[in-house]
Amino acid sequence: MRFTFVTLFRPLMEGYFEDSILKRAIEKGLLSVDFLNPRDFTTDKHRKVDDTAAGGGAGMVMMPQPLDDALKHLKAESPEARIVFTTPVGKPFRQADAKRFASSQNHMVFVSGRYEGIDERIIELWADEVFSIGDYILTGGELPSLVMADAISRLVPGVLGNADSLSAESFETELLEAPSFTRPKSFHNLSIPSELLKGNHSKINALKKRLAIAKTKYFRPDRYLKSTQRESDEKSIY
Ligand code: SAH
Repeated sequence: MRFTFVTLFRPLMEGYFEDSILKRAIEKGLLSVDFLNPRDFTTDKHRKVDDTAAGGGAGMVMMPQPLDDALKHLKAESPEARIVFTTPVGKPFRQADAKRFASSQNHMVFVSGRYEGIDERIIELWADEVFSIGDYILTGGELPSLVMADAISRLVPGVLGNADSLSAESFETELLEAPSFTRPKSFHNLSIPSELLKGNHSKINALKKRLAIAKTKYFRPDRYLKSTQRESDEKSIY
């Protein structure tokens, strides 16, 4: 999987790939990461990338031309690249999207807006997909791009040491994952549920399922309701 980040602020992003799992994935050749700065595609001597908003209003808007030329450059080199724009008014990015990209794409491009956002015509011309990472406004698309790239990366075969850890995770079904514990058995007088320590795997799985249901009911009643609509989950609840 190759990721290209189109951003005015490369230094905000590159550190994320310089440690831990993603660093190792790059070293193993499972991931590669590069950056493209729209400022390198400006044509005026001030290397201007933003301009005042048409119709007035506060703030600056990212101009179409530098982004257009940057994306043309990229597509000429990599015609199959999938171009994703970040915007708070996009569709919500979900685990299912991360899975779809991890299994169907080799080259993902993430475009980060700044200021008041990007001239809408560039999104219209270039976006294969447009995503938001949640209902709040950030200062730029760099974090959303990293969030999506991270979620996709860990689904690329070989990136996580233990592929089994993926199957029981939250968002694989409507239910969230059961809470996790590690040693010591008792911490500040709080014990690990004793069934987890006895080694009976069918009992452990049944307990994990009950805990997953309790957690989902509490934190995400919307997902719990959906899960009760599924026959397979219903059976194990009752
Ligand atoms: N004025 C815009 C917000 C611009 S925020 C509005 O009200 O809709 C500037 C940039 O940050 C956006 O272009 C986008 O790239 C990024 N951004 C901010 N919040 C985001 C979110 N929740 N999800 C995805 N991208 C976001």
